[in-house]
Amino acid sequence: MVQPESDILLKKNNSRMRKDGTQNTKIVATVGPACNSYDKLLELVQAGVDVFRLNFSHGTHADHLKVIEHIQYINDKYNTHIGILADLQGPKLRVGKIQDNALPLQSGDVITLVNEPVLGTREKIYMSYEQFAEDCNVGERIMMDDGKLVFEVLETNKVDTVKLRCLHGGILSSNKGVNLPDTALKLPSLTEKDLEDFDFIMTQPVNWLALSFVRTAADVEDLIRRVEAKNHPAKVMAKIEKPEAVKNIREIIKAANGIMVARGDLGVEMPIEQLPITQKEIVQLCMQFSRPVIVATQMMDSMITNPSPTRAEVTDVANAVLDGTDAVMLSGETSVGAHPALVVQAMTRIIEQAEKHYWPQIESKRPRAVDRARTFQSDVICFNACRVAEEIGAKGIVGMTTSGYTAFKVSSFRPNSRIFIFSDQVQMLNTMNLLWGVQCFYYDRFTSTDETIQDSVDILKNSGFVQENDYIINTASMPLHKRYRTNMLKVTVVD
Ligand code: PEP
Repeated sequence: MVQPESDILLKKNNSRMRKDGTQNTKIVATVGPACNSYDKLLELVQAGVDVFRLNFSHGTHADHLKVIEHIQYINDKYNTHIGILADLQGPKLRVGKIQDNALPLQSGDVITLVNEPVLGTREKIYMSYEQFAEDCNVGERIMMDDGKLVFEVLETNKVDTVKLRCLHGGILSSNKGVNLPDTALKLPSLTEKDLEDFDFIMTQPVNWLALSFVRTAADVEDLIRRVEAKNHPAKVMAKIEKPEAVKNIREIIKAANGIMVARGDLGVEMPIEQLPITQKEIVQLCMQFSRPVIVATQMMDSMITNPSPTRAEVTDVANAVLDGTDAVMLSGETSVGAHPALVVQAMTRIIEQAEKHYWPQIESKRPRAVDRARTFQSDVICFNACRVAEEIGAKGIVGMTTSGYTAFKVSSFRPNSRIFIFSDQVQMLNTMNLLWGVQCFYYDRFTSTDETIQDSVDILKNSGFVQENDYIINTASMPLHKRYRTNMLKVTVVD
């Protein structure tokens, strides 16, 4: 049932529906059969979701279209800015069908992978990547089923057949994923399916487009070029799930508009004990380069079936918040789980508690303006707006933006006052809803700087975010009509 509007605890123009509206770390929820109806999506927004992820590994274009329409309807009806993240499947490798859907394997067993579609048996198993035999080398490790089964390459004829020795056995069933952590693959980063999905996505009001199995900055640059060629405003997010991407992380972060620490595949492809530090390093680097970052996968995994999380899961989410991530992500928990709304509510509560201890942890991680950057002057204004806000105890920092630049910069500083961003670009408002602490407002009356500042004060006061005599810090670009980057900073007393 859709709840009556009065129950929804909306604040006019508020970018989220949370009761207190004070949380900074955002929640991304993956959509699937457990939550893809209008009522369920609305329930998740009420529970605290800021961005919905459409996973193109599953579902048809018609399924995704319906969800997009529901989200747009929610945004229109409730004046929210819920973002949409479309996640391309990428070159995920899989084995084919297995006879009786179960092949028991023990350490020492030898199996053969071929590139002709056959029903899989101990003698021959189909592997979906044609150049597998050519790319792999003797001694390299091969993982299947999320790393549960481990093999090493015994022989390859470099054409179509590879023999593997099982190092760690288990039951191999149909269509299980294959990871090649040691192998330099010649695969393109976009498959035929991705290109079809891309064409569909480019017809939709999607805010973020996630690229799977990124290896180099060139993979990201290629997708950005394709998006630009379609004249679509979507921003490109690089999913970090291969050791090669970790090696090239600085260049990838610089090339991408955002980053996802995709711990599922990354945890299979790299020694899993290195994952926590890799996560921390990526989050920190993203803050330095003012790129939003999502920590993803298995955050509340046990809630796929259980009504409450484990101690370890609660600690994991809290640690990601304290690392400084922009957002935490739910996958199976909301897409196929038994308790999607309970999971989001639990995550909201964990974030709320963790954020009470945020500032001492974050001070040393804040970015600095770099004087070699083209954007140096604007960056100095954005970062100093945050410092002034802190010094005078301002209630919030106000930014006006068309490109979103000010929001990305101010948010990356992780200021300890609220961030209120005004824009006349609806699509951009929904995109910025992913960013740490950013609260979005539609505003299209860019007449003069004085009037715009007064309008921002009135809107914030009327929505209950500020009161008389509160300080706010206004940033703007002067002259207003030229829409330069932010070049002005003003302390405003709410009258
Ligand atoms: C992951 O591997 O953590 C991830 C988010 O990717 P996907 O769910 O698309 O496999």
